[in-house]
Amino acid sequence: MPKINEEIRAWLLRKRGEVYNDSVYQSTGKLSDLGQRELEIIESILSALEENHKLRELLWLRHGCPNYALYGDDGEMQCHACPQDFLRSSANDIEKRFFEMGLEKYKAALDGISEKDKNK
Ligand SMILES: [Zn+2]
Repeated sequence: MPKINEEIRAWLLRKRGEVYNDSVYQSTGKLSDLGQRELEIIESILSALEENHKLRELLWLRHGCPNYALYGDDGEMQCHACPQDFLRSSANDIEKRFFEMGLEKYKAALDGISEKDKNK
């Protein structure tokens, strides 16, 4: 999980603890309306962070490079063939790298065609 996401997650978990430390909850066992609303927001952001991490993992595993190029120790999600860091890079940077890789393949294909022309 990117460092900023880890910090957000830690902050949200602290906030969730604070919701349950609320005096209304402590005395009645029920959350106040505000506490309930805060909890729903916290849970939805935590869920989105987990979803983001899962989608990054799936992208890392299935983006088309061979398995031997993937490095995943200690929660890392790197590919040495691209090369690309699926844990820390922004979605825009990952998209940019995929675009560059497409251009590299296209250029290699064109170079291959022109090499064939030289051999005629
Ligand atoms: Zn790759």
